[in-house]
Amino acid sequence: MILDEIESVILDLDGTVYLGEAALPGAIRTVTALRDAGKRIIFCSNNPTKHPEDYAAKLTRLGIPADPAEVFTSLAATVRWVLTTMPGAAVFPIGEQPLHDALTAAGVDICDDPARIDLVISSYDRTFDYRKLQIAFDALWFHRRARLVATNPDRFCPFPGGRGEPDAASITAAINACTGVACEAVFGKPEAGLLDMIADATGLVPATTLMIGDRLSTDIRFAHNTGMIGALVLTGETDRAMLAAAPAADHPHVVLERLDDLLVAALPADTEFADTEPAGTQADRS
Ligand SMILES: [Mg+2]
Repeated sequence: MILDEIESVILDLDGTVYLGEAALPGAIRTVTALRDAGKRIIFCSNNPTKHPEDYAAKLTRLGIPADPAEVFTSLAATVRWVLTTMPGAAVFPIGEQPLHDALTAAGVDICDDPARIDLVISSYDRTFDYRKLQIAFDALWFHRRARLVATNPDRFCPFPGGRGEPDAASITAAINACTGVACEAVFGKPEAGLLDMIADATGLVPATTLMIGDRLSTDIRFAHNTGMIGALVLTGETDRAMLAAAPAADHPHVVLERLDDLLVAALPADTEFADTEPAGTQADRS
């Protein structure tokens, strides 16, 4: 991979740019250098508990000035799906205020009457309770009219010290366990719809875009699903043992110990290429 050929860089946030309230080693210097080199920087998180404005403010606070227009989350992809696939639907969101706000701002009918609900949206919701589960159960199982989708597929959100918080997959599993209803669409990474939305907004071209993240099943699969170059950074969820055990389809094109490994001129000595790549691909990218 020669950085010269890269026009855009999509950066995951949790575990890639920062962890908790601290920028990860090399993150500030990397984003600054990429911008100085004329690269388009995009921040992309599956975490639906914050507005783009919140992420931009946090990045700026941590030393990486960011504009809300540079931030894309699973929330925007979710709202876009609702508007295009189920326009006029009565929606019951199991999520935090930013999900409600994003739906309301888009003119979506928010509803907690199970007899009227057309769509239940499962999300990362730290206010999840039995009442919400009962409403979803009644809409999906008793009235048998609603459909079920989820904002993002993540099992947990990583925190400093190896801790974390249960994420959307745990809420989706609770709903599925009591209703038997399968979740029919999940937004955010690794779904290609999110990249379509980012490309529409920014004009990026997948083949000249580097996707950097710490999670194989979302960030790296997102790169593979959309024709981007995928770089795994080992500052978050994934360690070398997990990488070695992962299915070939989830292997990244590049492995970075830390974000600023990316800045080493020419071909970094410590750049590693997935040995599962088809013949020719490595040469094309190296
Ligand atoms: Mg991450």
